Amino acid sequence: MRTPAPSTLRRSLERLYREFDYAARIERDAIRFPLRYADPRDRELVALLTACLAYGRVDLFSRALERALAAMGPSPTGFVATFDPRRDGGAFAGFRYRFNRPRDLVAFCVAARDVRARWGTLEKCFVAGDGAGQGPIGPALERFARAFLEADLAEVFPRGRPSRGYRHLFPLPSAGGPCKRLHLYLRWMVRREPPDFGLWTSLAPARLLIPVDTHVENMSRAIGLTRRRARTWRMAEEITAALARVDPADPVKFDFALCHKRMSGDCRDRRDAVVCAPCGLRGVCRHWRRGAARGRRRGR
Ligand code: SF4
Repeated sequence: MRTPAPSTLRRSLERLYREFDYAARIERDAIRFPLRYADPRDRELVALLTACLAYGRVDLFSRALERALAAMGPSPTGFVATFDPRRDGGAFAGFRYRFNRPRDLVAFCVAARDVRARWGTLEKCFVAGDGAGQGPIGPALERFARAFLEADLAEVFPRGRPSRGYRHLFPLPSAGGPCKRLHLYLRWMVRREPPDFGLWTSLAPARLLIPVDTHVENMSRAIGLTRRRARTWRMAEEITAALARVDPADPVKFDFALCHKRMSGDCRDRRDAVVCAPCGLRGVCRHWRRGAARGRRRGR
């Protein structure tokens, strides 16, 4: 398959970004949870908890998250600031979502309490691990995740090792996975344009990597942003590098639209005359480029 011409790719993606109906999809996206909180401190904290739990089906983790947020009350930062596992841990009784159990949320609150007490905000914690504030985002993201993984959680895990469920909340870039949930968190906090919050002004959007889930992976392959088969950190870098050729200052701005186009059924990852008819990506889509190439060969 040939790679689409940069100018055609730029035109197609910019059109998708411009014309996408964000309002129609936000209510089906995890971003709706932090969006409920007007106070930036609450939004920053709720966004992290949301991103940590954003694995599996959206409807299932949304139900579990609703329960967790209800337990934290109207001010999650206030809840966490004075959190005492013995006194307050029971608020999460009955919480259950795939790998996660109540003690994982208790541990999250203890770690968030201590990180916020030390740094003031989660942004300051991130920046403290970001060296000169330039270059690849991986090392800083690793340190940020470790601030939560290596917090003093003896009150929650007396044997000294955090549960598998808690460790699952914070994937480490050094393990080579795509770390979709951490990149999603950064996209929300750093990008300056809606639907993202732009609260973390100390980071440039140009440094972000795209959060690659199954939808973004499929769409990226369809429009020639990657040929990799395995969803890894390298795939996130490769897709982001392709998008940076379209918009170097803000490569991950296309994430929401690409993800939701596929998730909503507006793309079926195959040639479909009806579904594909209004699609602005047709000119760069492998499912149509193959057909065009076949047609050209036949006409020869
Ligand atoms: S042309 Fe069809 S298959 Fe290709 S991206 Fe658009 S909707 Fe998906």
